Amino acid sequence: MRSIIGIELHIQVNRVGSKLFCSCPTNYYSAEANRNTCPVCLGLPGSLPVVNYSVIEKATRLALALSSRISGSLIFVRKHYFYPDLPKNYQISQYDRAGMVPFASGGYLDIGFGGSSKRIRIRRINIEEDPAKISYPEGDPLKSPYSLIDYNRSGMPLLEIVTEADMESSKEVRAFLEKILTLVDYLDICDPDLEGAFRVDANISIEGGERVEVKNIGSLRDVEKAINYELTRQRNIIRAGGSVKRETRHWDSARGVTVTSRAKEYEEDYRYFPDPDLPPIEITKEFIDNVSSNMPELPWVRAERFIESYGLSRYEANVLTSRRWLADYFENALKYYGNPSKLADLLINDFLGIVNEHGGSPRVVKGSPDKVGKLLSFLDRGVISIKILKQILPDVVLRDLDPEEIIRSRGLDVISDRSVIEKLVDEVFRENPKAVEDAKKNPKAINFLIGKVMAKTRGKAHPAIVREVVARKLRE
Ligand code: ZN
Ligand code: MN
Repeated sequence: MRSIIGIELHIQVNRVGSKLFCSCPTNYYSAEANRNTCPVCLGLPGSLPVVNYSVIEKATRLALALSSRISGSLIFVRKHYFYPDLPKNYQISQYDRAGMVPFASGGYLDIGFGGSSKRIRIRRINIEEDPAKISYPEGDPLKSPYSLIDYNRSGMPLLEIVTEADMESSKEVRAFLEKILTLVDYLDICDPDLEGAFRVDANISIEGGERVEVKNIGSLRDVEKAINYELTRQRNIIRAGGSVKRETRHWDSARGVTVTSRAKEYEEDYRYFPDPDLPPIEITKEFIDNVSSNMPELPWVRAERFIESYGLSRYEANVLTSRRWLADYFENALKYYGNPSKLADLLINDFLGIVNEHGGSPRVVKGSPDKVGKLLSFLDRGVISIKILKQILPDVVLRDLDPEEIIRSRGLDVISDRSVIEKLVDEVFRENPKAVEDAKKNPKAINFLIGKVMAKTRGKAHPAIVREVVARKLRE
């Protein structure tokens, strides 16, 4: 039974200074509730929206990167519905019928999947405003005695991306989303790692069956879980001889299930019409050409470049280019340390591990790239061991401490003085006579003795010298 999945993705344009139709700031994550508001985003009567042109520029960048056709005219429409998070009782959005056109239509994104590449077609891209945010003090609306509304989010710019139903598994959807999120990061549209930066609605069906829309999924992990849950639910219905009902469901993240939600409005219930407060804006060829000539390097282009110029594996290049700050960090560190594959290895396995342990945001990274480069060159020159490097890396990354300073003040330099190591080996031999006898017969047992010497120095002894001295003394 083949599954058919299309998604509607809302990307919050959080990398602009002000909201879509007013000058209120967009940094609502850190702001006190209902501070970033004005008559426009509170929907007060008589207030008039004014378009933020930087959002149009960002939408144009996205359309160009996805090879979408940009409509010559930007028409904002009113989409009517009644909900407490929408004080005007309509959302300013776009529509693609009855003389109204989407911002852009068509286009595609190729995703790398299972060793091959698959093309996911884009149906349209629209600009619209975000409603306010409702919160329930008990988390669950049914258990909460009241609800609270924060209008800081009201009027935040959103880019809506609708795909054709070209995906067949939750893994493909995830691959698509990851690539789009990387893209909007590079295009300076959205910081995808901020809470609420994107929301996904998925249209899911089993071939031949009715389509179910699962709404409002807020994280990559939930996207996979929600789609898998819904596909299993539909397959079970079909296997039991039933038929799937066409409906809207929502994802209950806490319980890990999809549940039937309110009966969905029909298109005509929204009473779409062009917003009389916002006359159509002409999107000229000149404007598009100008945006096009100022496009930043796209993530997949950068990944290819990393493979070609630095000899990285595809996996390494993909991880390092998955966020622009990380790719920048890598290239800046390379100015101070010349071995790209050693640097890539450290960043992917150790550096990112530290960042992720502290929430995954680049904001926790205080240490400049040159310091990480310096650390690696100390390792290459034999000043410190890899163990010591890993031990002090968090202080360099999170606290911007100087590697040289840490090594000196904490006495962490590698012990490569032979006379010191000889003494330590003698001590270990005296303390472990049985292990010495074993090692004389069985060469593998030498590691135990080496381990004891390393332990005495808390990992600071130069491992190659220790091995050599232990081997020699065993032969004596
Ligand atoms: Zn406002
Ligand atoms: Mn929408």
